[in-house]
Amino acid sequence: MTKRPRRLEKILIANRGEIAVRVERTCRELGRTTVAVFSDPDRHALHVRYADEAYPLGGSTPAETYLDQAKIFDIARRSGADAVHPGYGFLSENPSFAAACRERGLVFIGPSAESIELMGEKTRARERMSRAGVPIVPGTPPLAAVQEALSEARRLSFPVLIKAAAGGGGKGMRRVDRPDDFGPAFEACRREALSAFGDDRVYLEKYLEEPHHVEFQILADAQGRTIHLFERECSIQRRHQKIIEETPSPLMTKDLRARMGQAAVRAAEACGYTNAGTIEFLVDAGRRFYFLEMNTRLQVEHPITEMVTGVDLVERQIRIAEGEPLEDRHLSQRGTAMECRIYAEDPWNHFLPSPGLIRKLSPPGGPGVRDDTGVYAGFTVPMEYDPLLAKLVVWGENRQQTLARMSRALEEYRLIGIRTNIPYLRRIVRHPEFARGAYDTHFLMKHQDELLKFDRSDHDRIALAAAAVLAWRGEEKSTAGPAAGNSAASAWKMAGRPGVSDS
Ligand code: ADP
Repeated sequence: MTKRPRRLEKILIANRGEIAVRVERTCRELGRTTVAVFSDPDRHALHVRYADEAYPLGGSTPAETYLDQAKIFDIARRSGADAVHPGYGFLSENPSFAAACRERGLVFIGPSAESIELMGEKTRARERMSRAGVPIVPGTPPLAAVQEALSEARRLSFPVLIKAAAGGGGKGMRRVDRPDDFGPAFEACRREALSAFGDDRVYLEKYLEEPHHVEFQILADAQGRTIHLFERECSIQRRHQKIIEETPSPLMTKDLRARMGQAAVRAAEACGYTNAGTIEFLVDAGRRFYFLEMNTRLQVEHPITEMVTGVDLVERQIRIAEGEPLEDRHLSQRGTAMECRIYAEDPWNHFLPSPGLIRKLSPPGGPGVRDDTGVYAGFTVPMEYDPLLAKLVVWGENRQQTLARMSRALEEYRLIGIRTNIPYLRRIVRHPEFARGAYDTHFLMKHQDELLKFDRSDHDRIALAAAAVLAWRGEEKSTAGPAAGNSAASAWKMAGRPGVSDS
């Protein structure tokens, strides 16, 4: 049934950080009023400053703030919002939240609760995809008995992956290489799944050797039309979490793109999907592709698709939610784009999160550079949430130009006060294999030592960075604040560790 278009005047963004700011920006361009919500540590956050209105959630932990549906609905009522944009993470893939929005007459800018539910559970999604003729990674339904699971693992042949049916965020996965290790791994995975997702069901997938993670962006309107907006290559991963993404995929051929794009559209249609979504695939060395999962929301890495297609995906999400049909325009990929995720973490200290006060921030600019940020100088990055600070996105006419731009932009990025992964990203981008586009999901693991190795040029870089900090602190003439441990003195002291303050 087609609903009459309804203009959404006031949109509550049930999120924080860079994605909340990202959504607010498009709302402003469209002349829609934005309502931000914020926790106590986020009182001075950029998404709060940028929004037209902002309401406190009270509390600090995700559970008592951005995940608290009752508080969010109360603010929606008080502010008179007519729609909710969930961003990614938090409540974005929670079917009960989408259903509760609908019951309250609030438009949820995303798919139906039914689609979220169907695709949220991995084995159910796999079953539906298989019925729709979309190839899936060889595997099993949920298995409870270890003996049965072991014989299934033998049938698939080792190595296998034990996965939580309700898993997500790269968690709840275990690779098993030998039958002897299977029993303990199976039980451990069930325990982990229960504590992380409140659901101990696990299943098996054949472990694909050195695959590529390639995903397709799709858009579907309420009139029943589904299109894809090409692929994103997301194989640069640490612990199954993406760090760098690019489009087009270096591995792609015209024929493979056509077949995968068709499969992605079929996958979305098979679950009656509306709004923006992503179909994730694994591609093996023989360029065979397999459905991995669907993400029923905007992806972190959506900007690279925007850069090559010229489509504002958040605008499309809002218009679809308003009941507008998709535009009938020809889409093509113009040039290439790449994204680096900038995290407040220390690559030289086990990638531990590095929250604290950002003392100085000077993001890169110039041709083809987009910095989707959630922070500013003077903001204290809270320790309660994901340490993603910003996404550096660049566009170039061809991959060579995009790489050169990314390298230059990472060089320009200055962030003083907390540690970031910027020096680590620089090394990946400059790695010869990455530069050739010859990489799969094992790239970071394979090159970890090399990427974290300290060399002569780091000495010079650190000396320069430390001198810059000293000069700046001299100008500032103030006593050190809470981030003193990350300041110039420690930059000198830790000269044995590259990247300490050279971001
Ligand atoms: P999550 O939902 O936790 O993000 P996914 O199922 O999307 O988990 O997988 C995340 C990553 O884990 C993939 O991008 C890939 O690198 C790796 N992975 C998942 N399944 C397999 C598999 N069967 N074989 C090899 N690698 C896999």
